[in-house]
Amino acid sequence: MDFGWNENAQARRSSLIEFVRNELNDDVAANEPECKFASRNWQKCAKFGVHGYMVPAEYGGAGLDVQTSVYLMEALGYACRDNGLTFAILSQMLSIQPAIALFGSDTLKEDYLTRLAAGACGAFAISEESSGSDTYSLKTTASRVKGGYRLNGEKKFITLAPVADIAVVFATVDAELGEWGVTGFVIERGQEGFSTTETRPKMGLRTTPIGDIVLDDCFVPESHRLGAEGTGVAIFNKAMESERSYILAGQIGAMERQLEETIKFVRKRRQFGTPIAKFQSVANRVADMKLRLETSRLLLYKVAWLESQGTPLVLEAALANLHLSETFVESSLDAVRNHGARGYLTEYEIERDLRDSIGGLTYSGTSDIQRNIIARMLGL
Ligand SMILES: Cc1cc2nc3c(=O)[nH]c(=O)nc-3n(C[C@H](O)[C@H](O)[C@H](O)COP(=O)(O)OP(=O)(O)OC[C@H]3O[C@@H](n4cnc5c(N)ncnc54)[C@H](O)[C@@H]3O)c2cc1C
Repeated sequence: MDFGWNENAQARRSSLIEFVRNELNDDVAANEPECKFASRNWQKCAKFGVHGYMVPAEYGGAGLDVQTSVYLMEALGYACRDNGLTFAILSQMLSIQPAIALFGSDTLKEDYLTRLAAGACGAFAISEESSGSDTYSLKTTASRVKGGYRLNGEKKFITLAPVADIAVVFATVDAELGEWGVTGFVIERGQEGFSTTETRPKMGLRTTPIGDIVLDDCFVPESHRLGAEGTGVAIFNKAMESERSYILAGQIGAMERQLEETIKFVRKRRQFGTPIAKFQSVANRVADMKLRLETSRLLLYKVAWLESQGTPLVLEAALANLHLSETFVESSLDAVRNHGARGYLTEYEIERDLRDSIGGLTYSGTSDIQRNIIARMLGL
């Protein structure tokens, strides 16, 4: 496995870190308690080219390979203190973008990849009230009408829904077909019968707007169906493979930032006449944080390397997702422990990582579902 990045990738990383530190970090402390989306920073990132890293050059992106892209996603999470903004950007890059890139017609790609790379907000919606982990038991219907379909149903807990300009939505064209009826559609805000709820407050990632999409006899032209009828499961699985694999890349960056800040703090903070870093319990927590960072990083890079080789990565993606999500929670808790009261009080901005880390146990498949996939791949 070659995890080395060429000079070009390293130069991109350095300029991304510089851009993020100069431009993105001022608003998070004010936005976070209000669950406010930093739309200005979203647009700045799009202008800098972040949204288009994986979009082919013909649609206005940089068309970067997966390993370089993952390297840059990690750098974004490292430099950007707003984990919610990083999550929102990666969510769009890893779900709606690959779904349209791999399964959209030339017209859909031209129209929507170009706009997504340029700063439009895109949501990817499958979850419903009664279909969470049991994804394909969805109830949203798509009934054939002249020229297209009428969609009816409600999508729940959708990242970026409240601000989405575009959404990929899954519905069934025939409930009796079960999984074989599930079909993907691209819908624009403004389409009659499409509406979204307000941002729903949550524990962490509070700057990522999450809400519901309501489809009330929403007309979708046939040209906006993704692939053929009944191919929704294949589309969802492909997009999920990409999201499951790399959505936590930003967290690796956040873990590195967290480790650096914790080391700085425990060296400086003195109790009983000595830096607290000299106490073995404190130092052991730092050692564990470093180990979690390195093991997570290796798993992430391995998945990206496997993809670059065209090798199946179902098992490795689930392993990486499970390990990254759970280690970020553990390391965030260790950071809080090592900072004492300063770790607990909001003003020191340490506790935010802990709250932000919890969502990773659920989105892109819960930890239980990742374990189910791993067990299945091991033949259990
Ligand atoms: C921050 C965040 C962002 C999200 N963004 C999106 C989005 O953009 N688009 C979208 O469509 N959805 C999104 N979701 C929804 C997410 O996909 C679902 O929450 C997830 O699939 C779990 O479904 P659920 O919440 O209904 O929980 P449930 O499926 O009801 O699970 C509840 C509990 O039961 C366990 N469980 C369920 N089934 C099994 C099983 N077979 N084996 C073992 N344990 C099981 C789960 O692990 C969990 O502990 C998001 C969620 C969050 C938290």
